Amino acid sequence: MPQTERNHDRDSRERERLRRQREARRRAQRKKALILRGVVFGLLIAVLIVVTMIIGNLTRRQGSLKKDTAAGTTSAAATADTGDGQTGTVSTAADTGADADTASDAAAVQETAAVAASSARATDNPSTKEEALASAQFFAAQYDYDRAIAAIQNFNGYDADTDLTAAIDEYTATKASCSPVDVTSVGHVFFHSLLNDDRGLRTDIVGSDRAWRNDAAMTTVVEFDNMVQQMYDAGYVMVSLDDICIKTKNEDGSVSVQPNNSLMLPPGKKPLIMSEDDLSYYHTYGIGTQGYATKMVLDENGEVKCEYTDENGETKIGDYDMVPRIDTFVKEHPDFSYKGAKPTVALTGYNGVFGYRTNDYYKDINNEHLDQDQIEWLQDHPDFDWDKDVADATAIADAMKANGWTFASHTYGHWNASTHSAEQLQTDNERWMTCNHNIVGDIDKIIFAFGGDIGTVGGYTADNDKFQYFKSQGYVIYCNVDAHIGWTEFGPDYVRTGRVPLDGFAMYQAMTPEGGSHGTYAKDFEILGISNVESFFNQYRITPIESE
Ligand SMILES: [Zn+2]
Repeated sequence: MPQTERNHDRDSRERERLRRQREARRRAQRKKALILRGVVFGLLIAVLIVVTMIIGNLTRRQGSLKKDTAAGTTSAAATADTGDGQTGTVSTAADTGADADTASDAAAVQETAAVAASSARATDNPSTKEEALASAQFFAAQYDYDRAIAAIQNFNGYDADTDLTAAIDEYTATKASCSPVDVTSVGHVFFHSLLNDDRGLRTDIVGSDRAWRNDAAMTTVVEFDNMVQQMYDAGYVMVSLDDICIKTKNEDGSVSVQPNNSLMLPPGKKPLIMSEDDLSYYHTYGIGTQGYATKMVLDENGEVKCEYTDENGETKIGDYDMVPRIDTFVKEHPDFSYKGAKPTVALTGYNGVFGYRTNDYYKDINNEHLDQDQIEWLQDHPDFDWDKDVADATAIADAMKANGWTFASHTYGHWNASTHSAEQLQTDNERWMTCNHNIVGDIDKIIFAFGGDIGTVGGYTADNDKFQYFKSQGYVIYCNVDAHIGWTEFGPDYVRTGRVPLDGFAMYQAMTPEGGSHGTYAKDFEILGISNVESFFNQYRITPIESE
């Protein structure tokens, strides 16, 4: 072989070797890429599986948490946060008992949740079958079977749908199972503004005088939530003061009153009237220092909430008093309210209402009627705008009225009507009208401050000048304080009910055998279905509590 040929041959062998090397490299790279792709793909699959498992787990956990909350089985967790009304809502607060997770309770919980969900979209004129059923379910839950049936019948073609006709049959049967309530003995319980934390009960923070007042007459949100839940569990249904009587306006303008004998409830359900006194956030309530809310506000959904400043000075908006707590509770338990009834709020006027300084005396810092607290408040609030406060308070009152709440006079000056003359009460009532009529409108109820009634048991008489005055001003419903739960008196032109406080004094007496009023309050609490008071009674309360 010539040199050149050998060279050529060597070159081509060399080229062939290099080609094979390149190919091997490419093969190796391809193999590597394939392996890498496989690994990445595998990893992706693994991640997907893990994520799916986590989501599945979370969903299951949330589901069971929700169920627990609705069933009220998580009492400790739910009541632990005294300081935050938004998390410790009424619905989650109480222990419904050991059998809360039995099958029937679980079914009841599901039903309640379904009805609660339907409340937001309940309508008298449904446009879909689902809307018709949900609306009817909500109205029926609040014992308004006629409205439930009407809602279904307002849906076009209902009579050809077996689900809808079956629902009508069901509501017709439930309505038939109802019986009239004895409105001459309906229990009436009341509260003041609620304490959202312990500050108001601690002598080291608010001093012994204020701590004692809060101790005797006030209730914490945890205590409130527990008692409301227990009353609900016992079958109580809120009715309004207006539900128990029928008022007939006579030709001469006077009003005749009769017991309402057609307030109907199904078996196992019992009526209960509720009220809240002194919803003003008085200057003496410490304006953010004692655990009370500072004012009521409308949230972004137009719902009535409260502003509250916690122990750390942080201001929050939420369910920080009875009004939003009851609203939330009824949303979650529509069957706690008879046809949408809510409590009655008793208002004075001297410090304004709902935390707004709406008394017209505040317009002028030099007004001779202003006391030191009021003057100091005005000095601290140089931007105060009386018209704005009145407008804001009126918006709160309007939202509450639309939501079933009613208002009563509690006298303008928190006066004891027993110890003031008819003339004095007239002056006071005129002040009440000046300060509050522009905000809450017409009222026909008076809830006596200190429970100080204008007449003794046995009826308001024609020669009772205080009664004659209040009657002339349109008052028809009168409420005192009476620990004999259910005490009610119907006159020809008025109805009177006695109210039981569910406050520190009452709770202490109910749970303390050696308490001076133990017998009375233990019986009241038993009738109301409230037990284990010591399990939720605030630890900072100063005991014994022997007087209000
Ligand atoms: Zn009061």
